[in-house]
Amino acid sequence: MPTDQESPPDGPFPEEPPKHSAEPKRRRSGLFGSRVISVGMVRGIRFDLDPSWFVIFFYVTYMVGSGFGKEHPDWTPWMVWFGALAGSTLFFLSVLLHEVGHSVLAIALGLKVRSITLFLFGGVAELSGEPKRARDEFLIALAGPLVSFLLSVGFLIVNLASTSGQPVAVVSAWLGIVNLGVAIFNMLPGSPLDGGRVFRAVLWKALGDYERATEWAGKVGILLGNALTAFGLVLAILGERWFYGAFLAFMGWFLSRSARANTVHAILGSRLRSLRVRDAAQIGNPPVDSWDTLEEVVEHVPDVKVGGVLVLDDGDLVGALGPAELAQVPVSKYAFHAVRKFMTPLRRLIRVAPGETLFSALQLMDKEKVSQLLVEQEGQPLGVLSRESVTRAVNRAPGSAPAATTA
Ligand SMILES: [Zn+2]
Repeated sequence: MPTDQESPPDGPFPEEPPKHSAEPKRRRSGLFGSRVISVGMVRGIRFDLDPSWFVIFFYVTYMVGSGFGKEHPDWTPWMVWFGALAGSTLFFLSVLLHEVGHSVLAIALGLKVRSITLFLFGGVAELSGEPKRARDEFLIALAGPLVSFLLSVGFLIVNLASTSGQPVAVVSAWLGIVNLGVAIFNMLPGSPLDGGRVFRAVLWKALGDYERATEWAGKVGILLGNALTAFGLVLAILGERWFYGAFLAFMGWFLSRSARANTVHAILGSRLRSLRVRDAAQIGNPPVDSWDTLEEVVEHVPDVKVGGVLVLDDGDLVGALGPAELAQVPVSKYAFHAVRKFMTPLRRLIRVAPGETLFSALQLMDKEKVSQLLVEQEGQPLGVLSRESVTRAVNRAPGSAPAATTA
């Protein structure tokens, strides 16, 4: 049942221009917006429980207990419910170990793991970045299902070694089967499931194109999610177990939504890391005079609404004017205001080199709480980088990541 993904499903969402900061903020709240409960830290990894996890823990315990009660009328209620509680506790420990499996591999390959969270649909290991090579992604993704498979084998061995019909045998058989189910379900080849990551890694290696591989894994993920939603709805309407059907439908919706968000997030991140400041910055716009009115500026440099311009006074650089400053004045008042009143003065402009990645430029903007940077090389001002020009560059970028990230 459980699903997981290694990149958070938050961040910029589809169909709208990316909002920066694009680097996902550290998620304090859970996947459904609620506050997570931190249960501890091990080697820098935070272990969290999303409130929704208690719902699924209760439900699984209840379903397993009801099943044991029906199939084993000879058991005392104490045996039934203690067995169910032990079963669901070991099951969620198994899910946790699945995530630990991903995390151990990620750490071994040089990535950081921020947190592992258990929630309604399973577990999530949140990594601090994306694997840089297809091989790394392949190995990290495979590690989780491999742990689930080994746990399944382990529980089935316990089952064989114990007395048939007794709680230990019944609980271990159930755990063996559900862990196998977790391994198989997670290997379905759509994002954000592990199988989607494996699929993407294989495509990435084969095509040498990270973005196309990401798009394909995302498409399959959306398809799988929609199929699960449809199946769940049919089950909920026609079947007896309406709650189970509704749960599957909700899970399908969550998978589709995550597949979409993860795809956009991954492609955006890849472009921000591969494009440079010089690819996005407005370099070459004629500078304007600080006594010009805003109306004159917009007329002569239409691109100022995205890219921004340098502002001169007697030939000396005194500041920059960009979309954020223009937005402070209603268009109807443009004719009545001089640039110097609204520009960001030189002393407050933060500098960035044209060879920096857009990713680090956005991080700098966030850190300094500014909406534009002065692009400067060896003391020579070249132009302005605004958030809007970053968005434009990212949206215009050709559809493939550079060879450096697909090695
Ligand atoms: Zn996994």
